[in-house]
Amino acid sequence: MVNEVEAIPDIVMKIVKDASIWRCIQCGKCTASCPVGKVSRLRIRNMIYQADKGGDILPLEELWFCTTCYTCMERCPKGVNTVDAVLEFRREAVKKGNFPKLHETAIKNLYETGTGFPLSSDIVKYRVLLGLEKEPYDISTSDEELKAFKKLIDKLKLLSLIKR
Ligand code: SF4
Ligand code: SF4
Repeated sequence: MVNEVEAIPDIVMKIVKDASIWRCIQCGKCTASCPVGKVSRLRIRNMIYQADKGGDILPLEELWFCTTCYTCMERCPKGVNTVDAVLEFRREAVKKGNFPKLHETAIKNLYETGTGFPLSSDIVKYRVLLGLEKEPYDISTSDEELKAFKKLIDKLKLLSLIKR
């Protein structure tokens, strides 16, 4: 639950303005049509409400559940840019080191191996049995490309954003 007593973070106020959250009339169409809301605790209407009230939603885990399918935004009768809001909140959350564990793992894997989720030995075994290459072609299959990719990640200082 968001603590509304604390001062409203400036960045939340900016996102409320830029994404037209202030237009929201709490009709609930967004949540009703959200496919992720049907299988998780993501409630985009509630998140928009909390943001409009100045709550700090950056630590919320469900911020990362949205698949950015845009259904809520297309159906919003008031033109609230829900998806931009989600993406902006995520961006700010990352700056504060609020990465979901799974994303942390994917980024570390990407850096070390060139793929977010390396294939398990069982999958490799089944691929070979099916007559496929051991692994599909990607950055991880080329030392040279992996080296260039690591350089890019270093330049972006991506790893320093992850809480260790
Ligand atoms: S559909 Fe739009 S107006 Fe309705 S609750 Fe969602 S964001 Fe607010
Ligand atoms: S964009 Fe995100 S919040 Fe909106 S409907 Fe799709 S999954 Fe739900």
